[in-house]
Amino acid sequence: MNDFINSIQEELQILKEKRNFRSLPQLIHDKGEVVVNGQRMLNLSSNDYLGLANDLSLRNEFLETLTPQTFLPTSSSSRLLTGNFTAYQELEQQLADIFGTESALVFNSGYHANTGILPAVSDIHTLLLADKLVHASLIDGIRLSAAKCIRYRHNDLSQLKRLIEENHNHFDKIIIVTESIFSMDGDEADLSTLVKFKQNYSNVLLYVDEAHAFGVRGEKGLGCAEEQNCINDIDFLVGTFGKAIASAGAYVACRSVIRDYLINKMRTFIFTTALPPVNVQWTSFILERLSSFQEKRQHLLRISRKLKEVLTCKGYVCPSVSHIVPMVVGDSKDTILKAEELQRKGFYALPVRPPTVPEGTSRIRFSLTADITEKEIDELINSILNK
Ligand SMILES: *Cc1c(COP(=O)(O)O)cnc(C)c1O
Repeated sequence: MNDFINSIQEELQILKEKRNFRSLPQLIHDKGEVVVNGQRMLNLSSNDYLGLANDLSLRNEFLETLTPQTFLPTSSSSRLLTGNFTAYQELEQQLADIFGTESALVFNSGYHANTGILPAVSDIHTLLLADKLVHASLIDGIRLSAAKCIRYRHNDLSQLKRLIEENHNHFDKIIIVTESIFSMDGDEADLSTLVKFKQNYSNVLLYVDEAHAFGVRGEKGLGCAEEQNCINDIDFLVGTFGKAIASAGAYVACRSVIRDYLINKMRTFIFTTALPPVNVQWTSFILERLSSFQEKRQHLLRISRKLKEVLTCKGYVCPSVSHIVPMVVGDSKDTILKAEELQRKGFYALPVRPPTVPEGTSRIRFSLTADITEKEIDELINSILNK
């Protein structure tokens, strides 16, 4: 026992020395600001991309639809037992309608979706071809699956094409796994080209995680797949409700037969208590309004482009084409100092270090939201420029 405690203490000490030690921040939210250690700062690290989580009028309107009888804070069970409240069917029908897919299935979180779908649909005769930068939840899903996996270089479609050509005869099926907007670089996958690749073969499928794009991209807010006009060409179109939708949970939009299969095979769907119905109703409430947030989406894109241009001019590497705008500093220690300096100036931007990003690419990750004003972005830009 003491050996164990000693060894984990040593490990933590090494993390501290490398400045990679993590601890939970104490913070108070106040609209678009956070108060940390008594200091008030503009929140530049939120996933509330449309600024809906702070919208009191939306919350009030939703609360008016509830009574003590209809406010259900728990489902008390898995959906396969007694947890399948009508709110679920309603949300899934709504998703299938807005995406124009045969069906949709809702999960407790994006983490549940990504760790559950791949293991359910693959076996040892499956090859997963995954982008090098996919989210940790997808990596865990790959690990839990029996499939063989090859990671291709980030967005390197010629390597991917070669891998498909070389391997499609040796496996029952290949699943290409990618995000649409990538979490750490804020850049984007070329979904229409991925669709073309898979259409050359009868045994290649496409899995796309739109966690950062759902709500934010497309005229209806349905994500990059809407923008690139390929919703129905994606076999597993996954997205989450915890970011732009200001709720919790996740979905896959897919064919009915895939939905049926997941309900039968997917362990992170079967063996967990379903989300509280009230939460599912809140998601539906937001989705009803999703197409009306186009101005927010445009504003978000505008301020994001502005920040990226300034960072690029300042000589920072910034691959972003979205509202996730990294400022790659390199060294962990320098990145932390930079983040602390920004925080002193009133900007709550957080450093992202290994293992979340590759060694030597520590960065400040600005995660912009639609309730940040043009003036606030200008202030941030001035403080970056005056350094
Ligand atoms: C946030 C995120 C997830 C996890 O979603 P949760 O609902 O927070 O569990 C999955 N994939 C990507 C790309 C994400 O950014």
